[in-house]
Amino acid sequence: MTAAHESRHARARLSIPGGVNSPVRAFRSVGGSPIFIRSAKGPRITDADGREYIDFVGSWGPMILGHAFPPVIAAITAAAALGTSFGACTEAETEMAEAVRECVPSVEKVRLVCSGTEATMSAVRLARGYTRREKIVKFRGCYHGHGDSFLIQAGSGAMTFGNPSSPGVTKGSAQDTLLAEYNDLESVRALFKACGDEIAAIIVEPVAGNMGVLIPEKGFLEGLRALCDGRNTLLIFDEVITGFRLGLAGAQGLYGVKPDLTTLGKILGGGLPLAAYGGRADIMDMLSPEGPVYQAGTLAGNPLATAAGLAMLKEVRKPGFYETLNRRAEAWEADMRSALKGAAIPWCINRVGSLMTVFFCEGPVRDYESALKADTKAYGRFFNAMLDQGVYLAPSQFEAAFLSAAHDDEVMQRTSAAVKKAVASLA
Ligand SMILES: *Cc1c(COP(=O)(O)O)cnc(C)c1O
Repeated sequence: MTAAHESRHARARLSIPGGVNSPVRAFRSVGGSPIFIRSAKGPRITDADGREYIDFVGSWGPMILGHAFPPVIAAITAAAALGTSFGACTEAETEMAEAVRECVPSVEKVRLVCSGTEATMSAVRLARGYTRREKIVKFRGCYHGHGDSFLIQAGSGAMTFGNPSSPGVTKGSAQDTLLAEYNDLESVRALFKACGDEIAAIIVEPVAGNMGVLIPEKGFLEGLRALCDGRNTLLIFDEVITGFRLGLAGAQGLYGVKPDLTTLGKILGGGLPLAAYGGRADIMDMLSPEGPVYQAGTLAGNPLATAAGLAMLKEVRKPGFYETLNRRAEAWEADMRSALKGAAIPWCINRVGSLMTVFFCEGPVRDYESALKADTKAYGRFFNAMLDQGVYLAPSQFEAAFLSAAHDDEVMQRTSAAVKKAVASLA
């Protein structure tokens, strides 16, 4: 981008590793240096030079109402005036927990934490404590935050045990994470055959969002449920992206499969650091101080975060919210398909509700292997061509585009005009 952004990034790099507090922000996989954001409103973000972009990242999901949604800002402002943290009980925490229970029927009790990473780490510890087993199954390409148990890649052996995908993760951690393939029940069955009585939990993004959007095939989630049943293995749905995105009850509501534990984040906090894990009461009551499994947080249930989250939930719980958003998303997909016609390279689109990915490869993309076929160089050119025209997409091929309720017709028309021009960059 501009020389001004480059110098901001150069300055940041002197004090922050890579100049960023989360790696994807560095634009490494699309080229160029990152834009620095000054403010945001509705469907738009404004960079530090005052240039506006239509935003399809939405802070990676939380901004389902658009940026700086007035009732959310008012709730945060009012809460801030009353003190920003007490480290003690508030009624807002109970209200938040009740709202989650009402929206997500599988959640009988819930605990609030500060990030999705904390939620998944805690859910896995709880599953291990409850089942008194140590191994978990995760799917290649699914992301569950940066906890040690999840930074695992396929081992070189025929099967089962993973290797750390990051230095600093111990071989011991890696041994307790078994890797399966998304949309492939056989791969899960094989793991159960090899070490079924050691598996505490299966953790899955019911709709995958972190290798681009992948859609669960008919029977996949149901099959996971059936594999857990009767084996004393817990099914954990990581709905940090899909919770309150695909409907009030998330992906589990959409597909009608009931997990034992659910993790939530992103939308839940309305853009403030808030996440949660919850599920069956008999499992959740294993948590300290009720039970022996320890988990705690100084800022957990923070009053600003619960205020923002409650204001957010009030809005998405209004009748017709998801119907309207999903109708808009359908039109968005149709727009994209017609704008991409005549592209010089193959592409395919996966969309569930207001989550969508355009993969630059022949479809279908249904697992990690097929996602990796996407032409990431072409995506980088497309990303930069869109950025030049004032549309900010995820700075990586393997992410979702997020639609918000603030993306109105005018913004969508400008986006499809930009796509038509950016298509030339694909050749
Ligand atoms: C973002 C994400 C996480 C991690 O949440 P953080 O708040 O970034 O720690 C976990 N699981 C899924 C599915 C996510 O998309």
